Amino acid sequence: MNTTCPYCGVGCGLIAGPDGLVGDEAHPANRGRLCVKGATLGLTLDDRDRLTQPSIGGRDTTWAEALDLAAVRFAEAISRHGPDSVAFYVSGQFLTEDYYVANKLMKGFIGSGNIDTNSRLCMASPVAAHIRAFGEDLVPGIYDDFDQADLILFTGSNAAWCHPVLFQRALRAREARGTRIVVIDPRRSATAELADLHIPIAPGGDLALFAALLAVCAERGMLDHRFIREHTSGFDAALSAARTAGHGIDDALFATLAEWVVATPRMITAFSQGVNQSAIATDTISAIINLHLATGRIGKPGACPFSLTGQPNAMGGREVGGLANQLAAHLGFDDPSHHDQLARFWNAPHLARHPGLKAVDLFDAVHDGRIKALWIAGTNPAESLPRSNHVREALARCPTVVAADCWATATTARAHIVLPAAGWSEKDGTVTNSERLISRQRAFRSAPGEAKPDWWMFAELGRRLGHGPAFDFPNPASIFREHAALSAFENAGERVFNLAALTNIPDEDYDALRPLHWPIGPADHRLLGDGRFSTGDQRARFVPTIAPASEATPMMTLNTGRLRDQWHTMTRTGRVPELMAHRSHAALEIAPEDAAASGLASGDLVAVTSNHGTITLTAVVDPGQRRGSAFAAMHWTEGQGSAGTVNQLIGSTCDPASGEPAYKHGQASLRRI
Ligand code: SF4
Repeated sequence: MNTTCPYCGVGCGLIAGPDGLVGDEAHPANRGRLCVKGATLGLTLDDRDRLTQPSIGGRDTTWAEALDLAAVRFAEAISRHGPDSVAFYVSGQFLTEDYYVANKLMKGFIGSGNIDTNSRLCMASPVAAHIRAFGEDLVPGIYDDFDQADLILFTGSNAAWCHPVLFQRALRAREARGTRIVVIDPRRSATAELADLHIPIAPGGDLALFAALLAVCAERGMLDHRFIREHTSGFDAALSAARTAGHGIDDALFATLAEWVVATPRMITAFSQGVNQSAIATDTISAIINLHLATGRIGKPGACPFSLTGQPNAMGGREVGGLANQLAAHLGFDDPSHHDQLARFWNAPHLARHPGLKAVDLFDAVHDGRIKALWIAGTNPAESLPRSNHVREALARCPTVVAADCWATATTARAHIVLPAAGWSEKDGTVTNSERLISRQRAFRSAPGEAKPDWWMFAELGRRLGHGPAFDFPNPASIFREHAALSAFENAGERVFNLAALTNIPDEDYDALRPLHWPIGPADHRLLGDGRFSTGDQRARFVPTIAPASEATPMMTLNTGRLRDQWHTMTRTGRVPELMAHRSHAALEIAPEDAAASGLASGDLVAVTSNHGTITLTAVVDPGQRRGSAFAAMHWTEGQGSAGTVNQLIGSTCDPASGEPAYKHGQASLRRI
């Protein structure tokens, strides 16, 4: 049976057969290849320790009793305090169908925007930058562009570890056509080790660097003036701002980089969390997009800015309004006609008319008592959000916390009602990967005990809250049909996202659905190369970007990120000995100069302290670290070889445009224990 890997945004196809799981040769995202995480998925199919029974206050119960109580608590809060007193916090691990039902219930029928997702921590900044430049959340490129580029800039991306199968395409392009690979990253990551050029910028230095590259392209006559004139607006202001930018790196390195950028029309800029998780993330992405627009390097073979998303369904969530500041089907809160359109389609008289609380703000609202009932599903904010101790306090204060998950976590431990969720391999639906490719995830084994899919739980809650007819979904196919119909509703081309061709897909065709890109139909799946954008005047918007002055601090910059063989808080990958063998414990990687200054050697225990707490890690002296910056993986949690999660140390500073937390720029001091 064909399915899709549940880990990263590459979205690789798999076949589950009698001999286990193998890569799907026919899947366009991976053509049979898998990384080590995907290749060991079969070893995670282990039902031990799974949540199998609903419980209330630790007492096993029935679904009916658990859902009745959850509905009573939500109804009481709504009736006494209004719809904005309740919230859902969901997950990029959701299938699109799960997301659709949860979003429809909260925004359409409860009447609040308070549904946000852990994808806020991953790709909210690209969404914000895409919308303000293109008028719609559109990723212009496709993975085939990596085969056809002559220059690939990876910025804020350790793709060799975090998007391995896609990075292998870049390496094959280098073999086949001499593609140059540049990595722009403060640390010498595994990706940087494999690059032709590593640019060790200061943390947050990407914005100034891309602005400086725009200025160089202008100086050297490499702008696409026809494209700028006919298809964009705001260029002059963006160029003026760019001319004020210093590149911030070694002059010789900049000269090499600039020469390559100026001379190479087929250029991709692939960016990920190192860019997205910053207090200047949206502006940084705008600087990247500005460079591509100004040089006409967008929507053409081998030429585009490319957001590498973290989770397999980060784009599917965006399609159905999984973020608190979005409506479904790429409709927006900022356009009242969109509210009316959605209210008509859903027959929803109480549709939310204003955005809800973004993740960090949402948990602040839980902490200060504004949120009275909270439903968390498929994510573990007690470990994964910044200031996770604050989140734990918030959960302890909240009158009603419902948590649905596959395994017990630090979050389910703090919930009043715990619901057992069906997970990957046990439920059906679709995901959309980083290149707009919709793929099926398929159930090929039974969920343990009484575990149920999340869409079913939200539909049951909707019925109990009195909205039965709107949540009468017999199966995931029926949800997908409604999602497709909504994308096409009163959409005569205003929005590119349109699944009209799938509106009436029969159940059996949905079951057999093969991967397909949206927009559905054109043979070339690239977008925006024709210069038509989803803005009112169809012109792309340049955004002037100014890099903020960096502030001197006596503390270390604490950079957090992923390991090659782990995923999120290790609830799945931590069960596989082969994956644990790569890195067996939580570590702090520091530059030799910083280690010497702190009296640290590899293997020493080090207390890492920020304004938000202290955790203990094992020091690893790594010449690949930039002086003044240290790196800690975000996977480790209490009880998994760490005395605390690194996210305890990260403050709640967010990018103002996207609300994405600045995980990459924490500040910490070190003390040898
Ligand atoms: Fe899964 Fe990503 Fe690895 Fe592909 S690259 S197998 S999607 S983790």
